[in-house]
Amino acid sequence: MSQVKPFETEVQRLLEIVIHSLYSNQEVFLRELVSNASDASEKRRFKQLTQGDGQVAADDLVINIKADNEAKTLTIQDRGIGMTEEELIKNLGTIAHSGTKQLLESIKEQKDKSPEMIGQFGVGFYSAFMVADKVEVLTRSSIEGSTGYRWTSDGVTGYEITEDDNAEIGCTIILHLKEDTQEFSEKARIDELLKRYSNFIGFPIELNEERINQVEAIWLQSKSSLKEEDYQEFYKFIAHTHTDARAYLHFSADAPLSINTLLFLPEENPEQFGMSQMKPGVSLYCKKVLIDAEPANLLPDWLRFLRGVVDCEDLPLNISRETLQDHGLIQKLNKLVTKRVIKFLEKIKKDDIEKYDAFYSSFQRFLKEGIATSFDHKESLIGLMRFETTMTEPGQLSHFAEVIDRQTSEQQEKKKLYYLTGTSRDSVENSPFLEAFKQKGIEVVFFTDAIDEYLLDNIHEYAGCQLISAATGDVEVEADQSKSKLAKAKAEDLVTWLSKSLKDLVGEVNISERLVGSPVAAYPGKDSPTPQIKSMMKAMGQPVPESKVDFEINTSHALIKGLYEVKESNPKLAKLLAKDLLNSALLSADLLEKPQEAATQWQANLHEVIKTVK
Ligand code: ADP
Ligand code: MG
Repeated sequence: MSQVKPFETEVQRLLEIVIHSLYSNQEVFLRELVSNASDASEKRRFKQLTQGDGQVAADDLVINIKADNEAKTLTIQDRGIGMTEEELIKNLGTIAHSGTKQLLESIKEQKDKSPEMIGQFGVGFYSAFMVADKVEVLTRSSIEGSTGYRWTSDGVTGYEITEDDNAEIGCTIILHLKEDTQEFSEKARIDELLKRYSNFIGFPIELNEERINQVEAIWLQSKSSLKEEDYQEFYKFIAHTHTDARAYLHFSADAPLSINTLLFLPEENPEQFGMSQMKPGVSLYCKKVLIDAEPANLLPDWLRFLRGVVDCEDLPLNISRETLQDHGLIQKLNKLVTKRVIKFLEKIKKDDIEKYDAFYSSFQRFLKEGIATSFDHKESLIGLMRFETTMTEPGQLSHFAEVIDRQTSEQQEKKKLYYLTGTSRDSVENSPFLEAFKQKGIEVVFFTDAIDEYLLDNIHEYAGCQLISAATGDVEVEADQSKSKLAKAKAEDLVTWLSKSLKDLVGEVNISERLVGSPVAAYPGKDSPTPQIKSMMKAMGQPVPESKVDFEINTSHALIKGLYEVKESNPKLAKLLAKDLLNSALLSADLLEKPQEAATQWQANLHEVIKTVK
């Protein structure tokens, strides 16, 4: 005998959200149920191929749909793997599906999620309750000797499971339609929806015994037989979205592996909106048979934003998915497909830079992740980076090849590329470190994304050129020599005195060879983290090491020459002035960690100055 079991609390919340916020988009329930039927059929086909399953021929895996206008029901039947009692409880009574969990979390964070966004997650089976006030699921697992069951629920109080001998292998879902959704018991309406949503289902679908779809694997068709709309329609189908893809890559190869591949660059990057990490979105097929919908190692992690299909004829079908993940063949596929994707991005960059930059602005973090993690593709990925520089207008982007192109032949021989990191173009543009570079006509690249600082720790060269920070690096540029400088002995005396006077605040004090218009400059000392890295370490809960800045003085600057004189006549005042000079340097280098505190100290310092001169 049976009793009504309550839904897991999370399921109840999901049901409320699904029923209320997707109300305007009710018809998606059909897409969800048909795609479940297709998933279950895929699994059965796979099982049949790998383990043998004498009970069904591949051609028998038909999805039967029945719209019954008199009974006001819609029935969807598949001959897939079906479910055991345990699976029924787990799959239809709890939220086992991580995509759905993610959806719930994201809704928690952002109250008004658009149905569009929700649709992308695929709300799954529960969407049946948008249109039905009673759902029956008749199922029998394809495991030999399994018992049949009937699962019944109103989507509110819970569900009931009873044994049922009538259940056939597979799954039959009977929707008892609500008063206001009875249009879904009309054949014409369902026909229209199936044509829209289910064009790419890999199994025959029959509606009231009439065949309605062509079963075709679009990725195996020739490019010339396909139109843009065909690709976009397929993309929307696999990505559960209403938005077209930005671009697609369709290619086949015979050597070293025989593959047919169709990949899409999506329009939106869900991770950009603070959602948790996406799962891989490129499925692995072997001759039209789905091997794994979310294969772990088929592509590197940083390509998880891609959607599509890789169909490889050389895959051995008789090994488990777990073993397959580490199979040498998968590694070969990974390398081959990744290379093609990078070439594809390079081509977009070359042919349509606006399109590339739009992609880059949303997806650059993935490419950067690739630079940090993917040794094989690092060089080409660095080449795909876009940035502003001292020689470009704000908003105008360049890449390294262009920077090298713009160098004089003398500069090119030196094989050096300079960069400066910071929080924004404004904050780096007026850095004192750039003065000498500007004077000498050497281009400096700006990196202003929060993770760039970390990233640049991983990049030491590109195209044979050394990458050097303009703030700390060996600069090989010398400032204008013509201006009169503090005499060498005096300058050294001042440095010694400054080191002593500021010893709690700075590491090294040096005479600058590169400052032009600025009196002083400060930068993180050797091996000490920059503020960006520090805040990242803090965010990750790591201990942040104590560190001091290094300080540079421009001995041809009037302020420094003046400071020397004050030091001789009024050392106390000079010490206060030196502190203020240091503060100004920290401020301009974006190194003030606590600006408010610094301002208060600065003012206290000025008080002392006034007292000293009174
Ligand atoms: P998803 O399909 O994204 O996993 P759903 O909510 O659509 O999430 O389905 C939940 C689970 O219920 C599926 O993962 C599957 O295990 C099971 N299921 C749903 N429909 C069927 C079906 N027709 N045959 C067998 N199992 C099914
Ligand atoms: Mg589903």
